[in-house]
Amino acid sequence: MAAGLPFRNLQRVPGPFLTLRTPQASPAPTTTPTAIPTAAVRSQCPYCGVGCGLEMKPPVENGALPSPWTARGDRHHPSSQGQVCVKGATVGETLEGNRLTTPQFREHRDRPFAPISWERAFELLEAQVRRTLAERGPGGLAIYGSGQFHTEDYYVANKLLKGALGSNNFDANSRLCMSSAVSGYVRSLGSDGPPCCYDDLDVADTVLLIGTNTAECHPVLFQRLLKRKRKVKEALRLVVVDPRATATSDAADLHLAIRPGSDLALLHGLGHLLLAKGVVDRPYVERSTEGFEALSDLWASWTPEATAACCGVAIDDLQRLADLWAGAGGVLSLWSMGVNQSVEGSATVSGIVNLHLVSGQFGRPGAGPFSLTGQPNAMGGREAGGLAKLLPGYRSVTEAPHRAEVEAHWGLPAGSIAPESGLTVWGQVEAMERGDLGLWWVAATNPLVSLPWLDRVRAAALSCPFVVLSEAYAGTETAEVAHLLLPAAQWSEKAGVMTNSERRVTLCPAFRPAPGEARPDWAIFAELGRRLGFAAQFPWHSAAEVYDEFVALTAGRVCDMSGLSHSLLAAHGPQQWPFPAGTDPGDGAPRLYGDGRFPTPSGRARLIAEGPAGLAEPPDEAFPLVLTVGRYLEQWHTMTRTGQVPRLLERHAEPVLEVHPSDAARFGLLDGALAEVRSRRGAVTARVAVTERIRAGTVFLPMHWGRSQENACEANRLMHELACPISHQPELKAAAVTLAPVA
Ligand code: SF4
Repeated sequence: MAAGLPFRNLQRVPGPFLTLRTPQASPAPTTTPTAIPTAAVRSQCPYCGVGCGLEMKPPVENGALPSPWTARGDRHHPSSQGQVCVKGATVGETLEGNRLTTPQFREHRDRPFAPISWERAFELLEAQVRRTLAERGPGGLAIYGSGQFHTEDYYVANKLLKGALGSNNFDANSRLCMSSAVSGYVRSLGSDGPPCCYDDLDVADTVLLIGTNTAECHPVLFQRLLKRKRKVKEALRLVVVDPRATATSDAADLHLAIRPGSDLALLHGLGHLLLAKGVVDRPYVERSTEGFEALSDLWASWTPEATAACCGVAIDDLQRLADLWAGAGGVLSLWSMGVNQSVEGSATVSGIVNLHLVSGQFGRPGAGPFSLTGQPNAMGGREAGGLAKLLPGYRSVTEAPHRAEVEAHWGLPAGSIAPESGLTVWGQVEAMERGDLGLWWVAATNPLVSLPWLDRVRAAALSCPFVVLSEAYAGTETAEVAHLLLPAAQWSEKAGVMTNSERRVTLCPAFRPAPGEARPDWAIFAELGRRLGFAAQFPWHSAAEVYDEFVALTAGRVCDMSGLSHSLLAAHGPQQWPFPAGTDPGDGAPRLYGDGRFPTPSGRARLIAEGPAGLAEPPDEAFPLVLTVGRYLEQWHTMTRTGQVPRLLERHAEPVLEVHPSDAARFGLLDGALAEVRSRRGAVTARVAVTERIRAGTVFLPMHWGRSQENACEANRLMHELACPISHQPELKAAAVTLAPVA
C-alpha cells in the first residue's frame, strides 16, 4: 500500500519523504531558437479554437528597427484554407512588447518584485512544494493552467501534479469555456470528442447557431458560412438563438432572441414539434440510442405555448425553426459559451445532441452537434487530461483501470494517482479561502479578470501563502497577487502541438528566440519534477519527445493519436484524429460515430431527459435585469496580447454597456453617458449604448477590460460563481444587476 505513494504517504507520515527521493541530474537545458529563419514558417493561430493556419514571415530590416513578424493565412492549412481574421493577422505585433524576461520574487505582496535567477526560483518552488506536502498533503498543491498551453505543456504539468505529486488539483481555463461540452459529450455519447468537422459547414442545409456569436468569436468559420450563403442563398438556412442581436444574427434567416437561461426549454420545445411532425429516425433511434421513451415524455410537456412563454419568443418562430429542421437534408448545430457557461450547460449540450440523434441528423456529412472551442488548444488540453477529473487519452481519475494504465505508462507505482476528482478552479478559490492551499500555481492565464466574482477571487488569492504565476507578459492583473513570477516562452518561441475544434492537430514550431530567460512551460514543470526526485519521469530534451510519450497513451482511445509525431506533422502538415499508428497522412477521420456505434457500455448513445431549471440568479425587485457578457471580434480574452495593438482598439476603444431603450428610460440612462452596473457582488462603470439590439430586461458588457486596462471595466466582478453541477462550469453568461446613471 505505502510503496506506491511516495508523497501522498507523507501526508500521513510527514517528514521522511524528504529523503525518499533526491534531486537528479538534469538533461541539457531546453533552449528556444537563437537564429531567425529566413523563410516563412507555418503554424496555427494562437487565439480562438478555429485554429486557422498562419504563415509567419520573418522581420525585414526597416531602417534602424526590424519590422515585426507578419502573419497571413496559410492556404495549405485544411481547416482555414488561407483565411485569417484581424486578430490572427496582427499576432506578429504582439510578440515582443511588455514581456517578462527573468524570474522575479517578493516575499511580501506590499514589496516590489526583485529579479532572481532560475536556480533561486527552483529552490523556492521545490521548498514550497515540500513544505506544502509536509504540512497539508498533496491536496495543498494546485495548478491552474490554460487553453493557451501546447499539448506538451498540459501533459507534463499533469504528470507532475497528478502523477508524481499525487494531487489531482490541476484545472485549466477550459473550465470556463468548454467543460459543459466535455460532460455533455461524455454523458450523451460515452466520450468527449466533437463528432463533426468544418467541411460540414459546406454541405449542411440548416445551421443552428445557439449560444454563439460566431461572427465575432469564430470569424473565419462564420465567413465560410456567409460565403456559401451568398452563393446558394435559400439552400442554406441560418438560425441564430441569442438574446442579443449580433453580427451573427444579422445574417440569419431566423433569429430567436430568447430570454437568457431558456436554451434548454427551446430545445425541448423543438423536440416536441419534431415529434409532432414525425421527424424521428426510428431505425436509428432503435439501433443506436437508449432512453427515447423518457425523452419523448419530457418533450410532450414542452408544448409550443409552454415553450414560447418560457423563452419569450413567438410560437410562429418556433414552428419555423421546426420546419427548417424537418425540411433539411443536413442540420448542423454550432454552439459555444452561450450554451456552456450555464448552470444547466451539460444538460443543454445533451439537449442539442438529443435532437440530432432522434432525427437521424448525426454521423454523416452536414449533420451533427458541433461545439466550437474558445481557445487555440482547449481540445489538446482535454486530450492530455487538462481538467481536474481527467487523465490523458480522455481517461478519468475516478476509473481504476484508467489510473492503472496511466501509472504504468508513467513508471509510477500503483496508487500514485489519487482516485478522486481534484479541485476545479472555483474549488481552488474556496480552498484558498479555507487556508487549505500552500501553493497556487497559475500558468498562461489571467484568472483575476476571467473568473467570476473577482473581489472574492482576489481576496482568496491574497490569503494564499505562495502564489506562482508563469506568464509571457508583465503586469497582468494576476501578477498583483503573486509571490513568484516565472517568465514563460510563448507560442512562436517553443515547439508544440495544438488541436483545433475539428480535431485537427497542427505543429506550432519555435521560430523566434524567447526573450531574456523565458522558458517553455513544459520545461519548467519537468525541471521541477527532476528536482523533486523524479528524473526517470521527466527525462525529455525536446517537446517532440514529450509528444511521443503522450500520443502512445492515446492508443486505442477515442482520441487515438498514436500515429502522430512532430516529424510527421512537420513533413505532412496538420492531421485530424483519430490517427492510430499506421495511419497514412491525410487519412484521419473527419467524423466520429458514422457507424452508429458509441463508446458506452451498450454501444448506444444516451438520450438525456432533463427538464430546464432556468437561471441560478434570476432577476428580482432589487436586481431586475440580467447582465450577459461576451466578446468583441478584435480582442482576445483579457487583452494581454491584443490590447497592445492600436488598430485593434479602433472599433471598440472602450467597453460599452448595451441597454434596451425601455430599460434606459426606466433607469434614467442616456445614450453615450456613463452608468453604474451593480450586482450583489460589486459594481462597475461603463458607457451606455441605448439600442434595440438587446432584448428588454437584458444588458450586455464585454468581458475583456481588466483593472490594468486604461478603460477598466471588470464585467466578471459582477458575475456569480454558481456552476453546472455536472461540468462545474460557472454561469458566466448571466447575473442579476441593476443600473444607475453616473454623474
Ligand atoms: Fe485566429 Fe480564430 Fe481569427 Fe482564425 S478565426 S485567425 S484562429 S482568432
